[in-house]
Amino acid sequence: MICRMLLLIGLILSAMAAAKARAADCPGNPNALGTSRVMTIDPQKLPRIGTVQYTRSLPLEDKEVVLTFADGPMPPYTNRVLDVLAEHCVKANYFIIGRMARGYPELLETIHAGGHIIGSHSQNHPLAFERMPLGAVQEEIE
Ligand SMILES: [Zn+2]
Repeated sequence: MICRMLLLIGLILSAMAAAKARAADCPGNPNALGTSRVMTIDPQKLPRIGTVQYTRSLPLEDKEVVLTFADGPMPPYTNRVLDVLAEHCVKANYFIIGRMARGYPELLETIHAGGHIIGSHSQNHPLAFERMPLGAVQEEIE
């Protein structure tokens, strides 16, 4: 329930078929994977999206995947991932921890400049939202 509140405003889908990414779409890399489309998720229609485990997947096309990275930004890993994504003209979803963003604001700027979707993954990533007082949960989210 709480995870759903962490706002899934959009997901970027990447096509795994190289044919989808034309050379013109990714200068310098004719074999790029590319990004096929951006999907906007309505939590009312897909209420389990954003929870840790769910049995129903997104309505994806054949050979589409959703790339999501959470718990960062964290150098040097985020930098390395961003480099690979850029090389393949692939966009991804980043669910950021607030205190990590405060620690590495330049990395958050790089994610944003790369055209990736940024979502909140709370301020401090507590592991037991369900056992926290409501005020503390609100603080984590806001
Ligand atoms: Zn996490």
